[in-house]
Amino acid sequence: MNIPKFDSRFQILPIKKIIKENEYANTYVFEYALGSKPGQFVMMWIPGVDEKPMSVAFDDGKEFWVTVCKVGPATKELFELKAGDKVGIRGPLGTYYSFKKGRHLALVAGGYGAAPMYYVAHEAVKKGYKVEFLIGARNKDLLLYAQKIVGLEGVNLHVATNDGSAGVEGFVTRLLEKVLQEQKIDEVFTCGPEIMMKIVGEIAEKFGVPARMSMEKHMKCGIGVCGQCALDDTGDLVCVKGPVMSWDYVKKLPEMGVYHRDAQGKKHYF
Ligand SMILES: Cc1cc2nc3c(=O)[nH]c(=O)nc-3n(C[C@H](O)[C@H](O)[C@H](O)COP(=O)(O)OP(=O)(O)OC[C@H]3O[C@@H](n4cnc5c(N)ncnc54)[C@H](O)[C@@H]3O)c2cc1C
Repeated sequence: MNIPKFDSRFQILPIKKIIKENEYANTYVFEYALGSKPGQFVMMWIPGVDEKPMSVAFDDGKEFWVTVCKVGPATKELFELKAGDKVGIRGPLGTYYSFKKGRHLALVAGGYGAAPMYYVAHEAVKKGYKVEFLIGARNKDLLLYAQKIVGLEGVNLHVATNDGSAGVEGFVTRLLEKVLQEQKIDEVFTCGPEIMMKIVGEIAEKFGVPARMSMEKHMKCGIGVCGQCALDDTGDLVCVKGPVMSWDYVKKLPEMGVYHRDAQGKKHYF
């Protein structure tokens, strides 16, 4: 019988610093050599509450960051914690974005997707990439990481908000069409709401540009044991085959941009 190897990379870590990004998002800074790659995630244990997957938003080998949106019981509890309080961290886990030298990349982020995409941009420019960073948000107060992105050399920031309070008015996917019309882009990476990522994949395909995306499904173990994040109809597990997956693969999934399953496996249509 194959018994999964116990993941010994579990650490109890004190929160070094908490940065309030906006009313609904905080960044948690940990002083720890996580050794992650961009696109990977950690399982974050909030003692007495739950353990949840969270993407790595930055890792320089000395500290790493996680940006959390307040949506339910576990994340609400995280917002009650202070610097010095401890949480459990398992990881890094999952697949990641890999780079070839000196290409031109478009990153498309929605919601807290801007945080993990910041880490991608940070590493991409180190590999000699030129980066077009496209962020979408409902309004300017919900824009995440814009100031940090502006500070990255070799990265051009493009902003879209639904109400036009920052950047252009409308969806970030319209900005992507414009960038792909005007510039030669080698690849598109995206992280955000699934419907947005589906449209990003379709637009990239229309322009003949390959795309990869950060898939998000309910996860419990994060290491391929529990089956919670199995995809219809392939049965592949997002925690091990993803979260970073190619558009060529995800576009064939019946659930892509159509429905997701809750912790009990019940379907919810978007
Ligand atoms: C690989 C991965 C990386 C993630 N990275 C981050 C991150 O960097 N920052 C962050 O804030 N969140 C991230 N998430 C999402 C986060 O893990 C969930 O929102 C988590 O369930 C919140 O826990 P909760 O108890 O606060 O709310 P819950 O009660 O668990 O969820 C609140 C609401 O969100 C829905 N929901 C929860 N998880 C998902 C999901 N995976 N797909 C669709 N709907 C969902 C629930 O159905 C519910 O309606 C990530 C998820 C995955 C799979």
